[in-house]
Amino acid sequence: MNKKAKLKKNKNNYLRNLNYNQAIFFILFLIIIYIFNIVKSNINYFKSKIKPHIAKGTIASVNQPLSSIRLPIFLYHYVEYVADQNDTIRKSLNIQPWVLEKQIQTLKDAGYNFITPSEAIQMLNGNIPLVIKPIILSFDDGYRDFYTDVFPIIKKEKVRAIVYIVPGFIDKINFMFRNQLEEVADSSLIEIGAHTVNHVWLKGLEAHHIKKEIVESKLLLEDSIHRKVVSFAYPYGAFDDQISKIVKEAGFTSSVSTISGIEATHLNKFYLFRLRPGNRIGKSLIDWLDQSVFYSW
Ligand SMILES: [Zn+2]
Repeated sequence: MNKKAKLKKNKNNYLRNLNYNQAIFFILFLIIIYIFNIVKSNINYFKSKIKPHIAKGTIASVNQPLSSIRLPIFLYHYVEYVADQNDTIRKSLNIQPWVLEKQIQTLKDAGYNFITPSEAIQMLNGNIPLVIKPIILSFDDGYRDFYTDVFPIIKKEKVRAIVYIVPGFIDKINFMFRNQLEEVADSSLIEIGAHTVNHVWLKGLEAHHIKKEIVESKLLLEDSIHRKVVSFAYPYGAFDDQISKIVKEAGFTSSVSTISGIEATHLNKFYLFRLRPGNRIGKSLIDWLDQSVFYSW
């Protein structure tokens, strides 16, 4: 073999080895990425399984159907530090995050147990034991501040809550992104409820339109979060007998209204009462909650 041919052979060998090494490195790189993703998703999984706070001695009854439960359901919209001070609508619907945190701490200190609407109905039906002093924190619409401001407080305080989502608004400005919703749904602390597809005023619409808004909101959400969605909220609190019947027939087990009250029964399962706690914290919150009658506002 002459010198030139030898050089060419060495070069070919070198190139073949180079390609071989590159391929090995590439495969190793893919394996590392794959393992990293598995570890990451496991960490997220364990992170999401935060055990909810349950006060001591909380089981109030063994499994038996109940005629009614004293069940305050708090209604929230925005929870954030409103940046635009001229946004009066947002300001009027807003609770500052520190107030929410203080309200949760007040309720925990007073022995309240945080449940979700699907659990409340199971307690009413006698499928699971009733806890003492049950309470629900409900957040309407699925604003982005639910993810940025509320969710961290919920995780910190280890309480449970429900957020009613409008699937047509996901990823839109001001509303949660789909991946944020998925993360919230993956946490063991938050139940996801439906709130129609487009946040429509249901009263007065034709039956097929009402049905479409209600049924599709359930299906779209179930598709997104891979879980059953069984709780509903009427946009603007607007409903009538026909609308609540459609909600029931769609497979929901409860629906919340904006009627003021504190009693959950088999009669009002599809128009559960809610309360606006406002900025009350500490003793004023507990005293207000302890009053026997709640008036509409
Ligand atoms: Zn709403």
